[in-house]
Amino acid sequence: MAAEAHSGPPYAWAGGRLTIDLGALVDNWRNLGARAAPARAAAVVKADAYGTGLVETVRPLVRAGCETFFTATLAEAVAARRQAPQADIYVLNGLPPGTPEAFAAEQLRPVLGNLDEFREWHAFCAAAGPKPAALHVDTGMNRLGLRPEEATALGAHELSAAGIELLMSHFVSSEVAEDPLSARQRADFHALAQRFPGIPASLANSSGIFLGAAAHFDLVRPGYALYGGNPLPGRDNPMRGVVRLEAPILQLRRVPEGETVGYNGQWRARGERRLAVIGIGYADGYLRSGTATDAVPGSAAIVAGRRCPFAGRVSMDLIVIDVTAVPEKDVRRGDPALLIGGELGVDEVGAMLGTNGYEVLTGLSGRYARRHVGE
Ligand SMILES: *Cc1c(COP(=O)(O)O)cnc(C)c1O
Repeated sequence: MAAEAHSGPPYAWAGGRLTIDLGALVDNWRNLGARAAPARAAAVVKADAYGTGLVETVRPLVRAGCETFFTATLAEAVAARRQAPQADIYVLNGLPPGTPEAFAAEQLRPVLGNLDEFREWHAFCAAAGPKPAALHVDTGMNRLGLRPEEATALGAHELSAAGIELLMSHFVSSEVAEDPLSARQRADFHALAQRFPGIPASLANSSGIFLGAAAHFDLVRPGYALYGGNPLPGRDNPMRGVVRLEAPILQLRRVPEGETVGYNGQWRARGERRLAVIGIGYADGYLRSGTATDAVPGSAAIVAGRRCPFAGRVSMDLIVIDVTAVPEKDVRRGDPALLIGGELGVDEVGAMLGTNGYEVLTGLSGRYARRHVGE
């Protein structure tokens, strides 16, 4: 097997390169699985495996022993099925009207999130025979899921006729360690699961795995932490970094004191500055909120081992970095600026951009050169 798989344009033709470390991803999955044992660990691969590439990530996880995957959409589940012919693949966003045949044709499992979906699936199963599905019960999110009283009103016969093989709910704020809501949801879900004897239960996302054994039930559903995101915000990240984003420096330039950089002249050089220009921008998913002005520091990149702040607006395809702190001999045209990876984890990048690491990862553009390494 190739040590590296490349996709997208060659590095020299693209504005930047994404490197996805599949070895780190698999390690993270094993690490989370060990924490959750004896519960089993699934993998959440929605949104193109959080921007890291569903096609490339599913197979290594299967080889590592992952037997259950969750996607958001039916289209994603079909793509996952191509990589994982035997796995249990659930579609979190449920059953769109008229799609039971499409689910059954690929042996995919809807996570039934309201009574209408349950009834449509139940009617389909009545004709075609029971096909596996999950029942999502809401314990506080008020997004998807039956209300607990709706779920408990379903009879055991109805549940088995509809092939319900998993009972699940979702935490509202599991990443906030002290939020009492998590304990309340866990207790409510525990009580609920007692009403569904013989049906495996699943509650925990990445951060939920760290809330203790009582949150694990039978199956845990990590997403973000698999991809190197920190499930414990504000504490040391127990996960290995998976994503690295670097962009070659297009040119280096000097600006004299007092000149401005970028659209609308919102950043002014305080003293002579040396600048590095890179060819990625908000069109690549690097959010415009990374803009540095005289008033706000904006985002940063690592150049020649040093953290360097942005200068001026993040534009569509360009970002300017103030590399004055890097000795002139240490940086030249073509050298990489590191935007995600190493010392600059996705959580920190998310914070600099006024969002979270989830949005940073899922926004990663298809324009980048991509390589998957470490298998
Ligand atoms: C996205 C999602 C997960 C995974 O959450 P992470 O915080 O990324 O681990 C688990 N369960 C449901 C229902 C989800 O929507």
